[in-house]
Amino acid sequence: MKQEKSNRNCESCRTEIKVLDLCQEPNLILCELCKPWVLSSIYQVPRQVIGIDIEDPSLFRTSLRLTENLQSPSTESAWYKFLKFIFSKQSDSSDEESEILTKIRLDYAGRNAIYSEEAIDLYYGPEYDPDYSWVELAKLSPYNGDHPFFDDLTVHFDFMLDLNKIIYRYVESLNTIEDEKQFLQENGWGSYVEQMTWKEIEPQIHNLYGTELSTSQLLECIHYARTSISVEYELIAQVIFDFACDETKMSLKNRINQIRIRSDILDKCNFESPPTSPFYYQIIADLVLGEYGQNLQYLMLASLYRDRRTLRPSRSFLVRDENAWTKSFQLLRGIIDSLGLKRANIKSDKILIKGDSGTWYSIKPARFATELQWWMVTNAKTGDLICIDILVPHKDLPLGDQLCSVVLALANDGSIVSEVYTLDPDRVFRGIQPVNML
Ligand SMILES: [Zn+2]
Repeated sequence: MKQEKSNRNCESCRTEIKVLDLCQEPNLILCELCKPWVLSSIYQVPRQVIGIDIEDPSLFRTSLRLTENLQSPSTESAWYKFLKFIFSKQSDSSDEESEILTKIRLDYAGRNAIYSEEAIDLYYGPEYDPDYSWVELAKLSPYNGDHPFFDDLTVHFDFMLDLNKIIYRYVESLNTIEDEKQFLQENGWGSYVEQMTWKEIEPQIHNLYGTELSTSQLLECIHYARTSISVEYELIAQVIFDFACDETKMSLKNRINQIRIRSDILDKCNFESPPTSPFYYQIIADLVLGEYGQNLQYLMLASLYRDRRTLRPSRSFLVRDENAWTKSFQLLRGIIDSLGLKRANIKSDKILIKGDSGTWYSIKPARFATELQWWMVTNAKTGDLICIDILVPHKDLPLGDQLCSVVLALANDGSIVSEVYTLDPDRVFRGIQPVNML
């Protein structure tokens, strides 16, 4: 019987892989030479994410891998799934919903049940039946039918509708006033503008289902939303909603403060659609700050990093120019083969090169890569680091080509070092030429 031959080619350099590596990354077939470089290009670790130092690169790499399919949320439902994903990584008891996951679920479900079937199901659980009477639903309710708004969707809906109307009326008035002020200032009435009282915002008290809100309270909230990047009117409306239905009677000012102390973080995150639930808003800032532990902090930071990193075709496998990338790694393999086993070895995580001087060097992907140094070169025996930059004009050459230059520079260490630099232990090759220029 004919034995079936494994005929799989490396997705980076197209070389046929003869020995099947059982530890392949999911969905990627890679040869021993390409694997470390491809993976490091996919899971490259930055020194900082939104100003927070990454102190544990290997944990961050794991987090990047775990958040691979996580998209930046653009709806409240997506925020629910996002947080559910992050917090589900916290405990390994898979079946039972942790306390925080219950809170996350009910927060989304309660606020959105009137608008979406998905949220209704999440609120009442699997026994929910749309034909149930109010009494039956109250029994299923996580609040036993006692939540002043969540358990009566119509009241919740009307409350938010009325509140939004009030907010938008104020916003409109403020816009009109600003236009008029600008007009007066442009026409030489600047000092007069400061003296005026504007009839659109005469103080009054709004009564919303038993909760009283003054004009100055509302204006303060609106002003905050107008001046903050990540605080939207919808979030402010939800804060007021929480104020109205919370029995702990935390003041509106304190509620706004809870948002205020976290908005620096959320502003930095620069989400396209920040969450509108005050609870979610706070959790996200606390995750970023590590309040839920480093593992979850890194998952959060990794997902932020994914959204903002710039991928370069020259050294990112994901956005590579396929032909140029493949050829560059084929050239690298060719150079290593031509040096022969006595001068060059490919190991599972590095390339070993013996210089003219007799020194063995190791080339690995850098832990924290820089524009000019995507690799980490060491003396293979002593472990001493050797700094080798690529010349600035050549930093956008395909990664394989850049590595060829490093390999050749090291193989010819005798000539290069004796020509320009002192030997050992601080030998520094600065600004090496790419291989096609040598
Ligand atoms: Zn390969």
